[in-house]
Amino acid sequence: MTKYIFVTGGVISGIGKGITTAALGRLLINRGFSVIAVKIDPYLNSDAGTMDPFQHGEVFVTTDGAETDLDLGNYERFLGIDLDRRSNFTTGSVYGEVLAKERRGDYLGETVQLIPHITDAIKQRIYQIGQESGVDIVIVELGGTIGDFEMFPFAEAVRQIAMEIEHNNTMFIHVALIYTLPSGENKSKPTQHSIRKLQELGIQPDLLICRSSKAISDDFRRKIGLLCGISPDCIIEGRDTKLVDEIPIRFERQGFASQVVRRLGLPDNPPTSSRWADMVRVLRQPEGEVQIAVVGKYVKGTDAYLSVVEALKHGGIANQVAVKIHWVESGLLENSNPEMANNSENALNQVFQGVNGILVPGGFGVRGIEGMVVAVNYARRNQIPYLGLCLGMQCMVIEFARYVCSLADANSSEFAPETAHPVVDLMEDQKDIRNLGGTMRLGHYPCQIRTGTKTYQAYQTTEVMERHRHRYELNNQYRDLFEAKGLCPSGVSPDQNLVEITEVQDHPWMVGSQFHPEFQSKPLEPHPLFRAFIEKAYHT
Ligand code: GLN
Repeated sequence: MTKYIFVTGGVISGIGKGITTAALGRLLINRGFSVIAVKIDPYLNSDAGTMDPFQHGEVFVTTDGAETDLDLGNYERFLGIDLDRRSNFTTGSVYGEVLAKERRGDYLGETVQLIPHITDAIKQRIYQIGQESGVDIVIVELGGTIGDFEMFPFAEAVRQIAMEIEHNNTMFIHVALIYTLPSGENKSKPTQHSIRKLQELGIQPDLLICRSSKAISDDFRRKIGLLCGISPDCIIEGRDTKLVDEIPIRFERQGFASQVVRRLGLPDNPPTSSRWADMVRVLRQPEGEVQIAVVGKYVKGTDAYLSVVEALKHGGIANQVAVKIHWVESGLLENSNPEMANNSENALNQVFQGVNGILVPGGFGVRGIEGMVVAVNYARRNQIPYLGLCLGMQCMVIEFARYVCSLADANSSEFAPETAHPVVDLMEDQKDIRNLGGTMRLGHYPCQIRTGTKTYQAYQTTEVMERHRHRYELNNQYRDLFEAKGLCPSGVSPDQNLVEITEVQDHPWMVGSQFHPEFQSKPLEPHPLFRAFIEKAYHT
């Protein structure tokens, strides 16, 4: 029988439920259990696909093409497995399903209500994941903060699940903030109030993670334990850290996984794998450091490029080096910035001073594009290793067309619909699409790698599957010209119709992919393109 762990959050949003879920999953996997994680999002969007990366962070894409919350990326990286669309659903998608059934007449005249119809639909999705995957443990993270109106249907649904199946098959973990006064004293009241809120909803947490900036004392544990009905052994400290990969190790030291498996009636065997701890050791004691400029348009204070940041780190792990990211707002490289217009080469030298590699990530819309093309041009002329991801590959194609093939106004039809040289153009099967949500070329597609290329050197195989999220592609009308001039289509779709990877021949390492390799990269399995990019950046 599959066991279910429900993770809630209290006091503030962004408390770290996602990382807690992911870290717990890793500890259970280290003990040999099979685990899947699920994120429920309490908003009305059908999925994360149409959400603004500034507001909501990256849209993470699964192999089956679901556009999901970025926490799924954390789950995949920590658990070391690929998830699918069942692992993320929203209030909007549940209501959509129930309302469609109502219109079809499936409810046969019943009054359709929040309880039981919405809650039943939520429960059914959770049960289905357990049944279909057959894993030992499903960890379900309830997005939002306890006390929010929109949390209620989910809290009610999981409360019912805990009533419906045997006691030791479910458990509740609450992650709450411990507020520390400037004097250094930890205050427990906000945490107590959030637990009261949970209890009002009929949920008693079995285990509490105290997110805090200071250490939690045993006295403090006893006090919260007494007031909130939680055993002090099940009160775990979740101290702030810059190195999220270290969190499973900190949790393990405090006996988190032991408490969980005991509560679920599972054998408390010691961990059988130390691969994660070995990886963290490399992160803590790198042999060197490499400087990578990431030139994008959502660079300030967002999680818009979370998987890119993680994949760069993985590239570092594979080469035993630390990766330091220099964020460059692409708009600042454009002529509209007076500093650039006055003395642009000097100004560019300053921006990229000490940088060993340049990366242009994915994105949509025209803002900042010209700055990305400037960055590509700089990398190509100065022989600096370059990795372009989706939009970053398209910018690489535009730059090559303009400056190597002398097609001065070459552009993507996404940014300049009237251009005489649409070297990047809308894919044929995207031309009649009107709806924005869920209609891109999404998820896994195969790609054939040409032997004898730098791309092949990285992959060491001729057939790969990679995750996509785009509408535009390299325009095949220009393919021969590009190849003749030295832009090699080093990866193509099996029907030869789509260029999936390009590389500049006259350059130490300049590769762009139409897909998003960052979504596939995992700390224990760094992606070959990131491994090769960091290797080149470190040694060039
Ligand atoms: N905007 C481009 C396209 O739709 C690139 C997308 C991306 O970078 N994910 O093709």
